[in-house]
Amino acid sequence: MIRAVFLGPPGAGKGTQAVKIAKKHSLVHISTGDMLREAVKEGTELGKLAKSYMDKGELVPDDVIVGIIRERLSKEDVKKNGFILDGFPRTLPQAKALDNMLSELNMPLDKVIYLNVPDEEVIKRLLLRGRADDREDVIKKRLQVYRKQTQPLIDYYKEKGILAEISGVGDIEEITRKIEKALGLA
Ligand code: ADP
Repeated sequence: MIRAVFLGPPGAGKGTQAVKIAKKHSLVHISTGDMLREAVKEGTELGKLAKSYMDKGELVPDDVIVGIIRERLSKEDVKKNGFILDGFPRTLPQAKALDNMLSELNMPLDKVIYLNVPDEEVIKRLLLRGRADDREDVIKKRLQVYRKQTQPLIDYYKEKGILAEISGVGDIEEITRKIEKALGLA
């Protein structure tokens, strides 16, 4: 049982690793990107709102995202099995809101995995992936947003003493092993 956040630039492989590790260790995988894409597909009000930001490479407003996460974290499976948060938090206000939620729920965060991948590699990967928001101009914007809004979380969690930095470049299995080790799962 572990409660973890996966942090890193778009294209770092957070999703790939989170899915794998969650499955293997029976953790709940919570991806805000997946949840938003699902809402877009279903054409809900949330989906329509989210799409207008995602298409531009901008972040969906904090209160919207925090509401989604609050609802998800209130479910029983999370308490029982632990979780990997993938793509949340992405801003300092989101991180602080998460701290408050988790302390109310009596479920402190164990570890933050920072998957580090250089910019050139990230751009290469995203162009190959070709998702709707993986167009060159949108990628550039997402990287800018990441640097400005999300990177400060690295220091935030470092100061809390729960950050583990892992290189996201190299063999996928090898990276999985390193993450499992950092999480105390191997
Ligand atoms: P990537 O890791 O490639 O950026 P994600 O699937 O995590 O992909 O996110 C895709 C888009 O969804 C983001 O660019 C943003 O618009 C929106 N999004 C996802 N998570 C959040 C979040 N925590 N806060 C705000 N917006 C988010």
